[in-house]
Amino acid sequence: AAGIGIKGDGVPVSIEKVSKSYGSYLAVRDVSISVEAGSIVSLLGPSGCGKTTVLRMVAGLETPDAGTIRVGDRVLNDVPVWKRGVGMVFQSYALFPHMSVAENIAFGLRMQGMRGPDAREQVRQAMDLTHLTGMADRLPSQLSGGQQQRVALARAVVNSPKILLLDEPLGALDKKLRDQMQVELKQLQRRVGISTIMVTHDQDEALTLSDQVIVMSNGHVEQAGTPKEIYRHPGNAFVADFIGAANLLPAVVSERTGEGATVRMPSGQAIRASEAANDCPPGSDVLVMVRPENIRLLAAPDAAWNTLPARVTNTLFSGSNTTFVVDCAGTEITVAVPGGAGATDVSYVVDDPVHLAWSAEDTIVLPTRPKQ
Ligand code: ATP
Repeated sequence: AAGIGIKGDGVPVSIEKVSKSYGSYLAVRDVSISVEAGSIVSLLGPSGCGKTTVLRMVAGLETPDAGTIRVGDRVLNDVPVWKRGVGMVFQSYALFPHMSVAENIAFGLRMQGMRGPDAREQVRQAMDLTHLTGMADRLPSQLSGGQQQRVALARAVVNSPKILLLDEPLGALDKKLRDQMQVELKQLQRRVGISTIMVTHDQDEALTLSDQVIVMSNGHVEQAGTPKEIYRHPGNAFVADFIGAANLLPAVVSERTGEGATVRMPSGQAIRASEAANDCPPGSDVLVMVRPENIRLLAAPDAAWNTLPARVTNTLFSGSNTTFVVDCAGTEITVAVPGGAGATDVSYVVDDPVHLAWSAEDTIVLPTRPKQ
């Protein structure tokens, strides 16, 4: 049928220097985020960092004290919730218990005055998109957690919102179902192309689902970038530590070499890094960041690599990986060696002396954490 179909209309969303206080508490400070048309952006950060407050301001459930929220060319600040064209899914997706699946999904359309065959077709499409075909007449109490979640999603997209806002949408589901729903959510978002902002504190979820990840702490943006950029090139120790596992070793910069640096460890050994943050001049105290999967364990030092002596303090076998915890001059370092019990690298045992070895390319020099 012409004119029917669930589709985002490809509008970018821009949040510009937005701030929000509750009393004297500054919950969101000078946050700018731009969501490309049809893309999915995650707000990621620890509890209380202001993610939900940002989302609620886009939804119109909170008013910013300063800054502008724009959808396409339209400034949203003073537009009431119901005129913003947002679809929302929250962790506690309250479905109407006495309404069937189809009625729950159709509810928003009815409120807009859409009824009859057009509404039925739209609901059918939403159910198709969310793999609910055949469940139209069931009541929410007759659905699994994952199915209820799909109804909440179908309800949020059925009237082709300009923006889809998701607040921990999969938070109530168990791990396996969540992984499956992540894939479905991404497929759905791609098919309909609705610009989407998602709040999560689950870094895997953010990396898996997003075109862009916004890492927040204490009400502000620490770093924004693609999942790969954020993981491979964290701009500071907070981001490095929050996204994935990071080893952070204290050192002092001895020399800047282009984009990189040579640093000196407390033992006097030199370490080369092909990447160093701008605010790490020679003489400054820094942290050397290297991911567990980028370190190898050698029996002897090798001049081709950055190497440091260490001692094995623990080994953890987890099927596809063996994780070694080692003590390196008082700093605990984690090394993830791929391969199970049969792999040759994994024969070290507790108390064995080893040499950590990794490349300059896998080394990033970051400023020490600011005092908070
Ligand atoms: P979580 O993951 O725990 O939901 P969050 O990052 O979403 O955390 P927000 O809900 O945005 O954090 O809250 C940011 C800060 O603002 C918190 O310290 C919170 O206590 C505070 N806050 C949020 N809403 C209110 C309110 N209505 N009144 C007072 N303080 C609030």
